[in-house]
Amino acid sequence: MAAFGWIDEQAELRRRAGLVRTLKPRPADSPLLDLASNDYLGLARHPEVTEGAARAARTWGGGSTGSRLVTGTTELHGELERELAGFCGFEAALVFSSGYAANLAAVTALAPHGSLIVSDSGNHASLIDGCRLARGTTQVVAHADPDAVRKALHTHDGPAVAVSDTVFSVDGDAAPLAELAAACREHGAGLVVDDAHGLGVLGDGGRGAPQASGLAGAEDVVVTLTLSKSLGSQGGAVLGPARVIGHLVNAARTFIFDTGLAPAAAGAALAALRLLRREPERAARARAVADELYTRLTAVGLTAVRPDAAVVSVRAPSPEGAVRWAADCRAAGLAVGCFRPPSVPDGVSRLRLTARADLSGEQLERAVRVIGETRP
Ligand code: PMP
Repeated sequence: MAAFGWIDEQAELRRRAGLVRTLKPRPADSPLLDLASNDYLGLARHPEVTEGAARAARTWGGGSTGSRLVTGTTELHGELERELAGFCGFEAALVFSSGYAANLAAVTALAPHGSLIVSDSGNHASLIDGCRLARGTTQVVAHADPDAVRKALHTHDGPAVAVSDTVFSVDGDAAPLAELAAACREHGAGLVVDDAHGLGVLGDGGRGAPQASGLAGAEDVVVTLTLSKSLGSQGGAVLGPARVIGHLVNAARTFIFDTGLAPAAAGAALAALRLLRREPERAARARAVADELYTRLTAVGLTAVRPDAAVVSVRAPSPEGAVRWAADCRAAGLAVGCFRPPSVPDGVSRLRLTARADLSGEQLERAVRVIGETRP
């Protein structure tokens, strides 16, 4: 058999299961109504954000030129880190080239040999990969279940962390953060939470889920972020006590061996963060749009998960049904996300809709009409 012949067999199995993925290029001026992107606050194309990117590239160059510990740290990186930490209420921050890299960093660096990682079964792939790479032992526990976390921690003597998304990316449901923190505190364990879908949407003016749960600045809580959703840019960050951030600089391989965040991405994120400070109502608007979308979907008889943030998940009958449904929406001028195995661990396929803060009532009405009319 040829060197990569086995790939054809896998591809055939995938085709038969209706699970083949293909790339669909998005034109710059797409006529589609977008409920598929993670641009929750509609900032990715805001003139201040794109100008922030352009100005940073003109000042600092197209790339950061090296790892952060060599030439890749600019004044812009420091400025973004100070403002991110300040906005979310944590002592210090460190930015990464992606949220994925930030999660790998936080989990691996905070779970040394002999430690226990307690991981929610619904966690994002990047947290799961962090657990796989870490030297500590991972125990996966039931979804959003503080008692399961408590029990797992009880079995272990030594350093421990619990890791969880704050808002789960598939169904848009929120983790019980305050209860998780309490369970961790009983056992002297740390809590690492991924606020990719909470920043900009939850908390006062979008300060994130940890702030909404009274955990901002807690010395036993570490938050990971992406700059690619509400902030309309690209990149990631870890926020927490200065002790933890200093440790990451010295121990996190995706920080040490990765080229620093591109200046344009840092400039765009900083501009978006300043916009969010100035226009805090954007966060509440995203939440209101999510509620309205959910109400309208259930009113036409669709099964959706009540949203805790800006993600609205709609049940599909099968993986093939979900793919066809998303394609029919697209043909009718609406872009929606389509989640199916293996991206969803429970095997339940869904359409995933983003309640962007800048969607009008008329657009929401059109979106729900199309989704209702194309249902499989
Ligand atoms: N965490 C969660 C919960 C996410 O949804 C994502 C993005 N899909 C990431 C982390 C990764 O962030 P990034 O895209 O910046 O790598």
